[in-house]
Amino acid sequence: MSQFNFKITQKLPGTLARAGEIHTPNGVVLTPAFVTVGTKATVKSLTPEQVKDLGAQVVLANTYHLYLEPGDEIVRGAGGFPKMMNWHGPTMTDSGGFQVFSLGVAFDKKVSKLAKVPQGGVAEAASESALVLPESEDEEAHKAKLAVIDDEGVTFKSYKDGSEHRFTPERSMKIQWNLGADMIFAFDECTSPIAPLKYQQEAMDRTHKWAMRSLLAHNELDTEKVQAVFGVVQGGRFEELRKESAKVLAEMKTPNGDMFDGFGIGGSFEKEDLGTAVKWVNEILPENKPRHLLGIGEPEDIFLGVENGCDTFDCVAPTRIARNGALYTKQGRMNIRNAEHKTVFEPIEKDCGCYTCKNYTRAYLSHLFRSEEMTGATLASIHNLYFINRLVADMRLAILDGTFLEFKDAFLKTYYRS
Ligand SMILES: [Zn+2]
Repeated sequence: MSQFNFKITQKLPGTLARAGEIHTPNGVVLTPAFVTVGTKATVKSLTPEQVKDLGAQVVLANTYHLYLEPGDEIVRGAGGFPKMMNWHGPTMTDSGGFQVFSLGVAFDKKVSKLAKVPQGGVAEAASESALVLPESEDEEAHKAKLAVIDDEGVTFKSYKDGSEHRFTPERSMKIQWNLGADMIFAFDECTSPIAPLKYQQEAMDRTHKWAMRSLLAHNELDTEKVQAVFGVVQGGRFEELRKESAKVLAEMKTPNGDMFDGFGIGGSFEKEDLGTAVKWVNEILPENKPRHLLGIGEPEDIFLGVENGCDTFDCVAPTRIARNGALYTKQGRMNIRNAEHKTVFEPIEKDCGCYTCKNYTRAYLSHLFRSEEMTGATLASIHNLYFINRLVADMRLAILDGTFLEFKDAFLKTYYRS
């Protein structure tokens, strides 16, 4: 008997938006919900108590990173990543596929910016580009390639030291079992938005085979069914493929009758197409299972995702941009490093209820960032996570009282004005 279920509390007529509850062995997630990313089993610059106080309900850690360091067996020895990091609440891990492909195959000049990111930020930077290119005829490109895909799995080189590793669906499931999250993802191939149709089709078919193998492998490990497994919809920017992927995964069933507990929507999107692409998929996926939009989480994107039927969102953006001094405000992003803030003795936002805004001025934050003090990253991360969690909580309330579309229009009107 699965220890996991999803209930819809309220649907918003005329849209695919819904408010619901995901029940896990470690607590309930009220949806829509923003999932805080703790890549290496830590939310950078914050303690788990701070993360919880900011309204976070779920923490997601990255399989790829924890596999490489400290290693999933060590994490299992510590009782799983939630226990190791002292997070008491629902958790997720991704499949590792995204980083393997985006870091491993990032040989193209367009993604060479990865190499310039300071240590510690490498993998996160990659998660924004997600470029996986199809087999190239270019010999130089082949030489530089760090990941090789075959039908069984992927062989890749570590971004840390170049050592060789191999992920298969079975391996990803074993690692995620060791990491011990409540919600885990089937191993998938993440493709570039510029990959041609033929390649997207092949990659999608492979992802579907890997999805079935992931389900079968997980059932062997998790006999008590303490983990929920989400299948990952792929298909790139192609409508037919996205719809086919949603249908195949929605109906996928093992000989024992096991099916996916929820779904992830993976791959990269052109920003303008996000709402449409998500809608194609969510019109097909079963209504009674949760849908997670992988790696997307800017305020304007979350509105589109929620309106088109997604329940949860994870993104490194709030904390990553915070460490660079970029702060969310209702008038758009503010860069605290700009000279204009040096003498402003007012909070980031006067009506923000976060610890940072209640106690500190822009002038102080500006000083911390200019003098490269660590506390700057902490205070900025506190504001951004509070902002995004509160925004998504407000979206939930607006679905419940039927005012979501008005709330969205009002928010985006001032947010885009800047
Ligand atoms: Zn604030």
